Amino acid sequence: MEYLLDTNGLTKQYGRHKAVNAVNIHIRQGDIYGLIGRNGAGKTTILKMISGLAAPSEGEFSLFGKTGKEAYQYMSRVGTLIEAPGVYPNMSAAENLKLKCLAMGVRKKGVAEELLNTVGLQNAGKKKVKNFSLGMKQRLGIALALVGDPDLVILDEPINGLDPQGIAEVRETLSKLNKEKNITFIISSHILEELSKIATNYGIIHDGVLLQEMTRDELLAKCSERIELKTNDTRKACTVLEGMGIEHYKVVDASTIQVFERLNDSGDITMALAENGVKTMGITVKNETLEDYYLNLTGGTENV
Ligand code: ATP
Repeated sequence: MEYLLDTNGLTKQYGRHKAVNAVNIHIRQGDIYGLIGRNGAGKTTILKMISGLAAPSEGEFSLFGKTGKEAYQYMSRVGTLIEAPGVYPNMSAAENLKLKCLAMGVRKKGVAEELLNTVGLQNAGKKKVKNFSLGMKQRLGIALALVGDPDLVILDEPINGLDPQGIAEVRETLSKLNKEKNITFIISSHILEELSKIATNYGIIHDGVLLQEMTRDELLAKCSERIELKTNDTRKACTVLEGMGIEHYKVVDASTIQVFERLNDSGDITMALAENGVKTMGITVKNETLEDYYLNLTGGTENV
């Protein structure tokens, strides 16, 4: 089994509108997969389909190597927090967890207490959930998704509306569970910067379409500081760069080279290229932030 979960042409159509359009995502065991997209991009709809809460209009997904009906049999190994968690507001966190354990047939003693500890709610005591802060509610939602020791946990916007400390706490909890229990996570968010601190892989979704999938390293490389050099002869240009002692560069396409060192020496590079008969068609220093990159990809700041 190459992927713990992958989708093949996954599509959801509401009337004439394709909320999710032929999406192929690939998630390996141990990934923390960040699904990024603006409001309305289709994230929740994807998560609902792969959790068995909505049926695809077209396409399919495979879970633990199984597709179709067989995949649904593995749903007990998937924990979800999609939209508001189904909690009983007049009960405490521990009571809510015990109820979920009961509903899922988890009989082991002390599970509720252990999960409260895991998500940092051990001091919530008898406080009713209706009096919880948003951060506490989100953490309880995560704890509820963890009942039954799932291998895969799907969290829809778990950091939405949290203050920076709440975000940091959720991040820490998820990292710990990923490392210590090898739980694979899929987390959606509309804030790339926040997910970038935790996700190992990304899927960028826009208007129902998956624009790109990449690893953390690939994303960071795209956003790293660099000189972008356009030239008519990349082969010869590489020889010139190496002659200048530049080793950290990458040929991106037939006319573009990215140079990741000596960022202040673009003048010297242009001169050396000219001396060797290589024409420079353009040379710029790029320093895109993650958010710049994301906005460029999805076309502007509207609705972000
Ligand atoms: P948000 O973060 O705002 O929830 P999202 O990326 O999760 O955004 P979805 O909730 O998946 O986006 O919605 C994608 C599109 O599908 C939106 O245009 C939404 O209006 C539409 N949509 C979602 N559910 C339904 C439904 N049950 N009936 C009709 N349209 C729907």
